[in-house]
Amino acid sequence: MIYYDNAATTPLLPEVRDAMIDTIDHYYGNPSSIHRPGREARVIIEEARKQIAHQFNITPAELFFMSSATEAIATVLNSCLRDLTIKNIITSKLEHPAVSRNLDLLQKVHHFNIHYVAHDAYGHINLEDLEQQTMQHPEALVVLMHANNETGTLLPLKKVKNICTHAGALFLCDTVQTIGKFFINLDEGPDFATCSAHKIYGPKGVGFLYKRNNIDIKPLIEGGKQERTMRSGTENIYGITGMKTAIEIACKDNETVNKQISSLRTGLIDGLTSIIPEARIIGSPQHTLSNIINMAFPLDITGDMLQQRLDMNGVAVSGGSACSSGTNEKSDVAKALGVRDNEINIRFSLGRLNTAEELDRFLEIFAKTIAK
Ligand code: PLP
Repeated sequence: MIYYDNAATTPLLPEVRDAMIDTIDHYYGNPSSIHRPGREARVIIEEARKQIAHQFNITPAELFFMSSATEAIATVLNSCLRDLTIKNIITSKLEHPAVSRNLDLLQKVHHFNIHYVAHDAYGHINLEDLEQQTMQHPEALVVLMHANNETGTLLPLKKVKNICTHAGALFLCDTVQTIGKFFINLDEGPDFATCSAHKIYGPKGVGFLYKRNNIDIKPLIEGGKQERTMRSGTENIYGITGMKTAIEIACKDNETVNKQISSLRTGLIDGLTSIIPEARIIGSPQHTLSNIINMAFPLDITGDMLQQRLDMNGVAVSGGSACSSGTNEKSDVAKALGVRDNEINIRFSLGRLNTAEELDRFLEIFAKTIAK
């Protein structure tokens, strides 16, 4: 299988699996127990917290282990509206459903206004508009993603942080697609950030919330007061070990991996445009993650059909986000960025395990698949 859906999820690296198996084999205690097996499990978790915090230049106290980025986002949104009684949320029409669907739901429970910041045809957020909106609503929560999961378009993190700080707004940045892709100094960045380990060759079902020290939000899930009361539920010690190892590898290798992926990106775009000259990139041509390429093609079949045919020929791609697949409809992001009625768009998301040899095979398969 040629796997070009690394923005949806990634395979577990063998080193990550080994670290997890070692923890499974040797540590069974409940990290909240005071006896030795419990204390040993606690050490595993706290060592992981220290190591991960170090990678992002934050303190271990600012890191909370959770089941996923979705949970981390929901925790922040719920608590900001419920406990900090935020009345204005400034966000964009390009966010992941973990943000947009939660906001829709929360509007049924809390009284607050959602303001959408303008963006251009590439998905770049209009910073002047953001500045104006944050000045109009100074105690707002700004919710913007660091890199768009469908197009790869990047947000200028520091500039957005400065705008928020200047206006006194809080800033939640969905960093799911950027964690591990390059160095992120969270200490100089948003007030809240998120990670899902499975996006960077770690296990599914584990992630983290970064919360700046001086902000007091409350948990989404109550119970046994784990994670310093921020997230109840016995910790996923095996998942946490996997995430720690995955982050360590990603942060160590990211320059080499980015170079390899950038060269595959160029080959993929050149190859696809030589097969279909009218093909065009959806998203930013420059300010983008190298691994995500979203292309629109004027073809006479639906996106789902093309995906299915590619799948039958041994290639995995997606139409946009994994969450919108199977609906045979253009995603909200594709619509917002002007994918035309006569076009279908496909997201090719590359990863560290993809090779140049595979790219040649893929282009042959693609040409044959659309010729049918
Ligand atoms: N945010 C972005 C940008 C994503 O790409 C995803 C996953 O696709 C999520 C949030 C949600 O991640 P998870 O499903 O692991 O909670």
